[in-house]
Amino acid sequence: MKVASVLLPLPVPEAFDYEVPEGLDLVRGDQVAVPLGPRLVRGVVSEVRETTGSNRRLKPIEGRLDDPSLPERTLDFLEWAARWTLSPPGEMAAAALKGLRAPPSRPERRVRRVPNRDPARATPARTAVLDALGERAMRAADLARAAAVSTGVVKGLVDEGVLEIVETAALAVFDAPDPAHAPAMLNPDQAAAADALASTRGFAPFLLDGVTGSGKTEAYLEAAARILTADPTAQILILLPEIALTQALIARIADRFGAAPAEWHSAVAPPQRRRVWEAVRAGRCNIVVGARSALFLPFVNLRLLVVDEEHDGAFKQEEGLVYHGRDLAVARARIEGAAVVLASATPSLETLANAQAGRYGWLKLRARHGAAVLPDIALIDLRQSPPDRETWLSPPLRAAVAETLARGEQTLLFLNRRGYAPVVLCRVCGHRLTAPDTDSWLVEHRYTGRLVCHLTGFSMPRPKTCPNCGAEDSLVSVGPGVERVEEEVRQLFPDARTAVFSSDTVPDAKSARALIQAMIDGEIDILVATQAAAKGHNFPRLTLVGVVDADLGLRGGDLRAAERTFQLLTQATGRAGRADRPGRALLQTWTPEHPVLTALAAGDRDAFAETESAEREMGSLPPYGRLAALILSSENAQAVEKVAADLAAAIPNAERLEVYGPADAPLALVRGRRRKRLLVRADRDVDLQGFLRAWLARVKVPASVRLTVDVDPYSFL
Ligand code: ADP
Repeated sequence: MKVASVLLPLPVPEAFDYEVPEGLDLVRGDQVAVPLGPRLVRGVVSEVRETTGSNRRLKPIEGRLDDPSLPERTLDFLEWAARWTLSPPGEMAAAALKGLRAPPSRPERRVRRVPNRDPARATPARTAVLDALGERAMRAADLARAAAVSTGVVKGLVDEGVLEIVETAALAVFDAPDPAHAPAMLNPDQAAAADALASTRGFAPFLLDGVTGSGKTEAYLEAAARILTADPTAQILILLPEIALTQALIARIADRFGAAPAEWHSAVAPPQRRRVWEAVRAGRCNIVVGARSALFLPFVNLRLLVVDEEHDGAFKQEEGLVYHGRDLAVARARIEGAAVVLASATPSLETLANAQAGRYGWLKLRARHGAAVLPDIALIDLRQSPPDRETWLSPPLRAAVAETLARGEQTLLFLNRRGYAPVVLCRVCGHRLTAPDTDSWLVEHRYTGRLVCHLTGFSMPRPKTCPNCGAEDSLVSVGPGVERVEEEVRQLFPDARTAVFSSDTVPDAKSARALIQAMIDGEIDILVATQAAAKGHNFPRLTLVGVVDADLGLRGGDLRAAERTFQLLTQATGRAGRADRPGRALLQTWTPEHPVLTALAAGDRDAFAETESAEREMGSLPPYGRLAALILSSENAQAVEKVAADLAAAIPNAERLEVYGPADAPLALVRGRRRKRLLVRADRDVDLQGFLRAWLARVKVPASVRLTVDVDPYSFL
């Protein structure tokens, strides 16, 4: 008898065994329907084997589905990723099938030539139709339009038996990119980088390291062009940290290659996602631009992966499957035998360590392309030049904005805080307003007049009385968000054209595009923005960047607080002076002696990386050691305590590894669920996943408690 192991979308660590019915020829990767309780579910065959003598009765597979199988290496990757992240392999496989949620598109009726049949009477209209059609199958209406005749002519040819009607699957058409369409003249650094990327054989990881505007995008697109020239069936995947950045890159690729790439992220409608999935699987699509979930697409000839802005924390997925898109991209390239390039102006310390150790090739772009120079960065010491009471812009920053306005140039005021005020508190009792079921503070939004929990989305109208002591009109807004800074800007510069860029004011890709275009067209003088505008965009008339609170990210105190702040502020200040006008950046701070800020002001990334790396190395923290977090949560506080205690009692013996906790999570209550955390630190060469598997196997977690394993955590909340 034949038995197949089938990966099902369930939170279990193993595949399920089914009997393969007589006559059904299955291979690894095939998609099948199998009975699960009373339902039929979609699964992926991970293994088929012969067994003799069955000691248990297995249910038979219902049948193979029409959808294409997963390529062998795609499945290898999914199984590897599941082991690495300690995720259920069936859920990993389900992530790869997400593109197939929409039903297959209905077949289309098309016409094509019947072999060896010519029309009895050849009119010019009929000849035009046959010429336009050639060997293809076309929709009658498209054909009539192409031949500039009425559909009656096409119909006549069908009636005569010269053309026949066929039903074909409606396939998405991705025009083949033309590598020679509009090449750029690369500078020597760029050419060397493109050469290195395009001339590798097999797995080859690289760091592409260059300041904002140094031409990294141009360099990797050139590498893609060379790879496509050598192999027109090659596939290239470019990952971006945010959907908002995809449109600009898609337009650039369309300009460079004369054909738009496929787009893949959660905002793409399901029918189109199915078409992209099918085209990638069939090898009919060469270039995909997408968010991290594009990693799970069924590529058949993946030659190059690009992770642009590789340092960006948005590559880490924290909900559902917990994984880091950058790390999985490197793994996928290894399994596919492809080149992978991590591009950044401010590489993560992990990637820098890999480049320094020679594990990654290190491609450096030294200067900004063309005339653009990096902005001058200066610190404003708020102890010496404080803003007036209840305002946030210091006199030097206000003066700089006024000068920039007078020159007709643009200013970006950067503050990574949405809304009007981050905290609302009662002047009488000191109570800080939080959501009823969550420990995080409510943020005041003036545009909507509501208090919002940014973690869960809970919101309520701003109350008139304090919910704690009942005092009337006692609530005050503390600190600034972008909306409050905009209010100040409007008072200071009433004639300036001012706008706010945050996920609240630009909720979707369309409005983001409109605001970015308005900025590029010079229709905005002062843009007050969160990190949504700090990344990737190119504003040629922008010459001043003011960072309202440079200390903000440094207060967090988690592992990457300093690194993230350095990266974000480098990105933000890098927006200035991208075209031919020099730019400058002013950072307001209460702690100008902080090493992150002195390194920024000196434009010395290496000094920052060295200081920060030395500290991490001392504590054997990533990238010099490894971390994993276990997060327990439940509506039942006792159940959480019990599992936490059981875990603490069951820690396997291990060397060069420590377990911290269990402790209350900093956000101990979220959506009414109690949360506790444990943290594991291990030396680099310890088999951390093996340790975690052995540990978790010893503890029974009841259904009421959710256990999340986060290998290499980025959030410590
Ligand atoms: P990065 O990705 O490093 O931020 P880009 O590739 O976006 O840099 O380049 C910055 C700007 O310089 C873009 O407008 C790009 O079109 C232009 N550019 C870069 N390299 C070249 C080149 N070799 N020839 C012409 N323009 C270039």
